[in-house]
Amino acid sequence: MDRTRSTVGGVALAAAVCLFAGVGIRAQQPPGQNPGAKWTDDELRRAVAPARVGRKLTPVKWPNNARVAVCLSFDVDNESFLLARGETSPTTLSAADFGAHSGLPRILAMLDRHQVPASFFIPAVSAMLHPEMIPAIMKSGRHEIAVHGWIHEYPPTLADAAEEERLMNQAIDFLTKATGKRPVGYRAPSWAFSAHTLDLIRKSGFLYDSSLMSMDEPYEVMSNGSATGLVELAIDWTLTETPYLGRGGTLPSPDKLFQLYREEFDGAYEEGTTFVLTLHPHVVGHRAPMRYLEELVAYIKAKPGVWFATGEQIARYVKTAEPRP
Ligand SMILES: [Zn+2]
Repeated sequence: MDRTRSTVGGVALAAAVCLFAGVGIRAQQPPGQNPGAKWTDDELRRAVAPARVGRKLTPVKWPNNARVAVCLSFDVDNESFLLARGETSPTTLSAADFGAHSGLPRILAMLDRHQVPASFFIPAVSAMLHPEMIPAIMKSGRHEIAVHGWIHEYPPTLADAAEEERLMNQAIDFLTKATGKRPVGYRAPSWAFSAHTLDLIRKSGFLYDSSLMSMDEPYEVMSNGSATGLVELAIDWTLTETPYLGRGGTLPSPDKLFQLYREEFDGAYEEGTTFVLTLHPHVVGHRAPMRYLEELVAYIKAKPGVWFATGEQIARYVKTAEPRP
């Protein structure tokens, strides 16, 4: 996800990409059209069928009898989102470049202080422009590196399935070469599936996706009535910071947002499910939100029975564990 505003595309485009990415491109049609109001029952069912909830995958028990699984995830968008849209203003790019120079090192240092793992979803171009990032993330041996597009392209507006597949394969190849390991996790740029994305990530053999939002616990994705075997580690527009902080944000201080995160974690802890948080180095990596993030990590760590894990570790576990009845 990215809410960095583009002077090329203008504020309206950036807002549209972000606000409507989660509900599909039909939401971008002019008001007054409401084509769905004329769809038949079958058409409505077909419209929602491509990616639905299958088996719930919260296990009977977590490793080491933990009560909850916590996945801290970071989308390392940096300049990729802007470059994909042709933005070349040095000042605009510099605000996103902050993610590589100040944001990521601060995040990695904080994770080291608390000795917890995280998953980093990286557009390949972000890693290409800052080749020091991947070795820095890999240094501790705790973190996962996963796919977040080639250049944070917007999948619903790519030309066709072949173009999307080309970019996905470029991203997989780049990260495989840079890390020495084929990535197993996928998160769509702008969290937006095209009509082809799910088929392509299945074809590429990904273990899990983390772009959908139908539940706040893990589930298997169903596609047009068939089980896909793909684990979904669902995310949510409130469990991220870009709509609320930074240049495009609406909050003057992170305190309310991190209060929400804490209460969401408390709920996941009570339910014994998962807490998946998604943040961005170029936004959360600033000084004030980092203070709140570190306090949140310390709060979660202080609770007994918390399993901090990467998306890969959680997905591998729930895929074979006995699910709750
Ligand atoms: Zn992103």
